Amino acid sequence: EKFNIAIDGPAGAGKSTIARLVAGALGFVYVDTGAMYRAVTWKVQQEGLSPHQESEVIALARRMRIELIPRPEGQQVLVDGIDVTKDIRTTAITDHVSQIASIGDIRQLLVAMQKQMAASKGIVMDGRDIGTHVLPDAEIKIFLTASVKERAERRFKEMQDSGNSEMTLSQLEQDIARRDQLDQEREISPLRKAQDAILMDSTSMTIDEVVDQILGLCKD
Ligand code: C5P
Repeated sequence: EKFNIAIDGPAGAGKSTIARLVAGALGFVYVDTGAMYRAVTWKVQQEGLSPHQESEVIALARRMRIELIPRPEGQQVLVDGIDVTKDIRTTAITDHVSQIASIGDIRQLLVAMQKQMAASKGIVMDGRDIGTHVLPDAEIKIFLTASVKERAERRFKEMQDSGNSEMTLSQLEQDIARRDQLDQEREISPLRKAQDAILMDSTSMTIDEVVDQILGLCKD
């Protein structure tokens, strides 16, 4: 029997890794909604627009085609047929994505796409507003957090492992704190735990422990 799982939480809490593993274990499809905001930010930069040019940004977002393709190793992202999976993870995008995500019409557009993707159930969707706005009726809702320090350390290790030395640990800590603030303070669908979401603090948990706990909830 199929159902939907919503996983929300701040940047770097491990949502995408955990959502992907949970989806794999259940044979569900993983949808990373952050990648959609990143894809719009990528296109905005490609077109040489500033995030401040809101009406142009909105028109561009309406014109562009975003495809999310589930792959065993994760979600592949195409923008107008171009594979941007790696490019949307660079700091050039990360620095501006929260600004793009604060534009109401952009959220409306992407949320409509996300609702449609989840209509047939069997989706594990991660983001910031999934349990509160996108899938308020999701059968299972998780709000996943970890301390800023822990989240920065995880990101740092991830970047080191992929040979990326773009940022220092303290820069990462600052970046995470800055994005937390932007996401929590934005006017439209700010980052919040849904009332009926289960709070999980992963600061001192392993990935497997978090995944097992979520899978345990699915059996009830
Ligand atoms: O999850 P990720 O870090 O890739 O998300 C990038 C940014 O996209 C977040 O910092 C947030 O500003 C925005 N976002 C959002 N709503 C979502 C997913 C992401 O506003 N559902």
